[in-house]
Amino acid sequence: MTLTSDSAVLDLMAPAGNGEVVHVASYPLDSSRVLLGLVNLVRRAERDNTPDRADAQLHGLISHRVFRSLLNGLQFRDPATMRHSQRVARLATGLAKYLGWEDRNLRALEIAALLHDLGKIGVPDSVLFKPARLNSDELRLMTQHYMLGIDVLETCRVDPLIVRIITDSHHRYSRDPRGGSTFSEIHQGARILVVADAYESLSHDQVFRRAKAHDEILKLLNENAGTQFDGNIVSALQRWIHTYGPPALDGTMADDDPLMHYFMAPNEAELAEAANLSHLFSYLHTLDSLYDGMSIIDANRRILVWDRGAARTFKRSAAEVLGVTWKPQFFGYADDRGVPLAASQCPMEAICATGASYAATLNMNNGEGEPVSIELQAFPLIDKHQRLQAIAEIYRRTERDDEAETSPELHALKMLASRDALTRVANRGELDSQIELLLKKFNAEAVSEPFSVIFVDADHFKSINDKHGHTVGDQVLVDLARLLQHESYSGEIIGRYGGEEFIVVCPATDIELAIRKSERFRMSIQAMRFADHPALRITASFGVTQVVRGDTVATLVGRADKALYEAKQTGRNRTCQLMSAHGRKSSNGTSQDDDDPFKFVQRFYIGIGQGIVQKLSGFIEDHQAKLLTVEPGRVKMQCGGGTIFGLWGWTDGMRPVTVEIVLPELINEHNGHASRRSPNSPESICVTVQAKGNPRSEATFQTRAKRLLADLKSYLVPCDRSTHLK
Ligand code: GH3
Ligand code: MG
Ligand code: MG
Repeated sequence: MTLTSDSAVLDLMAPAGNGEVVHVASYPLDSSRVLLGLVNLVRRAERDNTPDRADAQLHGLISHRVFRSLLNGLQFRDPATMRHSQRVARLATGLAKYLGWEDRNLRALEIAALLHDLGKIGVPDSVLFKPARLNSDELRLMTQHYMLGIDVLETCRVDPLIVRIITDSHHRYSRDPRGGSTFSEIHQGARILVVADAYESLSHDQVFRRAKAHDEILKLLNENAGTQFDGNIVSALQRWIHTYGPPALDGTMADDDPLMHYFMAPNEAELAEAANLSHLFSYLHTLDSLYDGMSIIDANRRILVWDRGAARTFKRSAAEVLGVTWKPQFFGYADDRGVPLAASQCPMEAICATGASYAATLNMNNGEGEPVSIELQAFPLIDKHQRLQAIAEIYRRTERDDEAETSPELHALKMLASRDALTRVANRGELDSQIELLLKKFNAEAVSEPFSVIFVDADHFKSINDKHGHTVGDQVLVDLARLLQHESYSGEIIGRYGGEEFIVVCPATDIELAIRKSERFRMSIQAMRFADHPALRITASFGVTQVVRGDTVATLVGRADKALYEAKQTGRNRTCQLMSAHGRKSSNGTSQDDDDPFKFVQRFYIGIGQGIVQKLSGFIEDHQAKLLTVEPGRVKMQCGGGTIFGLWGWTDGMRPVTVEIVLPELINEHNGHASRRSPNSPESICVTVQAKGNPRSEATFQTRAKRLLADLKSYLVPCDRSTHLK
């Protein structure tokens, strides 16, 4: 039994090139389906190269069908990012035109702006939609995905000019403040794109900051001209806007834009392909993290894909290798003792002959005639007609084995014990221990990220067994599990809880996001079709809950089960949620703000009449702090040079924080507490240090805040009082 929604994706796969078609006995693997999506893009890119097929508006910069597919993928993954990209494109091209850009270059910039966030397609929900500032690990992940986006563009034969503009714009984004490039090394298109991107995001509400007015944005851009933005571009923007007025950024692209028709609503097949792109990107990320390189060779022995990792490992660039006909000599395959392999033993030939996957540790040519020991895995990419379309090879350098590895047998045993025999997803024991692990972490940390649990139960499953038989029922369960896996790309743990009940554990996910996920599952299940049983329909009910402090596996799963019960009671085929009685507040009733790891509040004592104003001005002067607000009894300032988006730098001077000082008279009123101080007791002040920009980690921020506070105290507190510090 196959899902027809899967088949829709496979329908898009082109048959093997002009050459022979190899039929094999294996069945398509998940990786086949996903990677054939990439093969398909590459083939489109190559076929669109002829002038009669190309869209003249694109100036040969990108295949029109690839362009459409990538835009669809981005729109499918996150419409908000697509709208943002359209507005950035509008701004960037307006500004570039003003600077004298035209024709092909201008179009390249427009396409680059539309695709500059392409990598976001593969970013997990917990990062992409995180309702808070990203931590350093998440930022690193984001950068990896941006690089992957660029990899995919290169693989799809997109013009180097576009690739350069996007690469340079991200280079600025993740730049090490100590050793960044100078502006002249960064393509002007990228410099324009960075300014347009900043202007656009500042003019709209973000998770951490309200939208800013035009004047305020220009002020910010100007303040950061020379460090984050090219001053010339910023002043050009200013002149442009001065002449033509602020750009209207409420809509998306201009209706008369020649590329507008690429944004027409996708048809069903295109939608299915767009969904497949999300899987493709997250799969490529997995490959990228686990292996050193990947290539895809088609059934005609032509090298179609050659990623950055392969280029690094074998010291041959994509430009050298792509489109070249593969020959065994190319890699100089030899076994682990250095004996050259016979042609028929090479992975390509072996797979063509048997259709089975291949794995071996081989000595291969590192591109400079030296052997390099590679653990090679190759697997066939088979389409739905059982035809071999291409072969994917993934490479891992064996000398990379730094960590002590557990034996493969042990690993296999572990897998066996943790999987459900029918559906191959996690079994109940594994689910319990995974939830246990997350709970342990959640309950141990003072500030912890919530996670959520979705309980899924097939509706009226007994009647499916009754009508179609138990075997069909079994297969429906397998398909259901597969669907849950396919619809999850954010590190979710899928498990079979029992019978026709599944649980999806969603790390780093709050209840709202979990409800959205659950609804996505629900709609997809409702749309499932079964080729052998066209009349068969299935729906499921969902119970969702979010973890609260003190939860155990039993209380957490129990709550999700209760929510599920409600869904069943109120009509089935729906999602119900249950939050604990405490809601989202932490159990001790402190405000959410106190949970902010990037905010540090401390109160300490100073003597009465210690000339506080004078001492403060000493601190402000020595730290070159910028006063933000001064009210009676309250001062707010910024310490550390500001970058608007950039990562924090390596010295405190490049780690911006705001420091708010509330003087004694206001503190009691401020906290709503009755005054308990006696007329002679030392006075206490309250200092709040809060991060601006993106600290590299919570620890970096905490260190910075503590150092700053110690410094502030040294100005305000007489030495002999330091022991009273809280
Ligand atoms: P509801 O909408 O209330 O969930 O109705 P239901 O029929 O799905 O629920 P009930 O709990 O009454 O029955 C569950 C059925 O699921 C009973 C059993 O026949 C079927 N089932 C459980 N495990 C398996 C399995 O491994 N294979 C098959 N084919 N059926 C199973
Ligand atoms: Mg049940
Ligand atoms: Mg049921």
